[in-house]
Amino acid sequence: MFRKILIANRGEIALRIICACKELGIPTVAVYSQADQHSLHVRFADEAVCIGPAPSSESYLNIPAVISAAEITNTDAIHPGYGFLAESSYFAEVCEACGITFIGPSPEVIRMMGDKDVARKAMKEAGLPVVPGTDKIQGSISSALNAADEIGYPVIIKAAAGGGGKGMRIVHSAEDLPNALEIAQNEAISAFGIGGVYLEKYIPVARHIEFQILADHHGSVVHLGERECSIQRRHQKLIEESPSPYLTPELRAEVGRLAVQAARTVHYANAGTMEFVFDDRGHYYFIEMNTRIQVEHPVTEFVTGLDLVKEQIRLAGREPLGYTQKDIVFRGNALECRINAECPDTFLPSPGKLKTFHPPVGIGIRVDSAAYNEYVITPYYDSLIAKIIAFGRNRQESIRRMKRALEMTVVEGVHTTIPLHQRILSNEDFRAGRIHTHFLEQMNQNSAPG
Ligand code: ADP
Repeated sequence: MFRKILIANRGEIALRIICACKELGIPTVAVYSQADQHSLHVRFADEAVCIGPAPSSESYLNIPAVISAAEITNTDAIHPGYGFLAESSYFAEVCEACGITFIGPSPEVIRMMGDKDVARKAMKEAGLPVVPGTDKIQGSISSALNAADEIGYPVIIKAAAGGGGKGMRIVHSAEDLPNALEIAQNEAISAFGIGGVYLEKYIPVARHIEFQILADHHGSVVHLGERECSIQRRHQKLIEESPSPYLTPELRAEVGRLAVQAARTVHYANAGTMEFVFDDRGHYYFIEMNTRIQVEHPVTEFVTGLDLVKEQIRLAGREPLGYTQKDIVFRGNALECRINAECPDTFLPSPGKLKTFHPPVGIGIRVDSAAYNEYVITPYYDSLIAKIIAFGRNRQESIRRMKRALEMTVVEGVHTTIPLHQRILSNEDFRAGRIHTHFLEQMNQNSAPG
């Protein structure tokens, strides 16, 4: 196992990784920006190195600074968490070249999955159904118009380098395509520095359901079931749960088997997530693969009893998985609400100081957070205050548990998404499992006055 692990991240996920390392008995190194000197990840790691000023381009994304911190602390592995450098194949390569283990899959696989239209092709060849779509749009507008005609409207334009819902545009008619292409390309350039976009058939009534997989370096792969992530705003997840109220055991086994087979085909090693959209007629399609730990991993941990971060570390250390698919037993239901410092109506960030922060307590509740009283949510990083995860024997119990947990959460000083979560949890369609990716818009429309 590793001598020491450096955590190239901040916030709740840095703390989460520290928890896993402590349980494995591996010392940790935190890196931090000047804005984070009073952060809990700095306090709880065994060592800490300041790697630059507040803007992430000068600190958490500064590869030479992160690598230098690893070298001066004699670290032999780096956990990237999610965001920042987690899906940088270049960073994974630099780690490798410096003799440091990157806790994640190989740079080649990260690169393949990071280019979403390349990933689509690879996964199609590996046997997964993909949404009808195109390669990267090249050349004249007329070829894009022809392709869209063939796919059939509505189509969705996506950035090949995409993430965080950026650079996506839904187009309903040929008339709107040229303009939308230009906007999406510009958005992609400003968000990712690369303008490549492609088209996919847009599924109007869709559910986002993703499969967690774990794979070792010796060819063993298992899936840990699914996470239902259909409650979204601006194509970004707000509530996640496992199991999905939509999947039957047969469908779970079928998609899980395909996901495992696809992971094996691309020689995937470590934890990864394959995301699918399901339409309302039982069809499902691969949309992308995330080659890192996900924000919503705790719901899977509750229902499987596995510690995904410890598994990632073990697998990066080339240990064998040590269990097979039939050893994975699913129990109960888990639900996660992302509590962001955000205006619950406009979703605009609401940075500031938390005058009071009191997380919920009680049976079946887990809180992953790096916040405390007087903690400052800065405008430099994401606005996540806490992830609250409820576990129950069934969906109804975890919903009730989550509702009371949110009632018992005190956050003063900034706006939060808690009131929105409360409305969703009380909604009859949500409670009945009738959810899809436009659930929120529909709920807001239905409750609009007049
Ligand atoms: P990103 O990487 O930017 O998060 P994704 O490809 O994961 O982008 O898509 C984000 C969300 O957009 C999905 O969860 C889903 O709600 C919606 N979406 C993506 N592709 C489609 C599609 N072909 N049809 C309908 N909705 C889609």
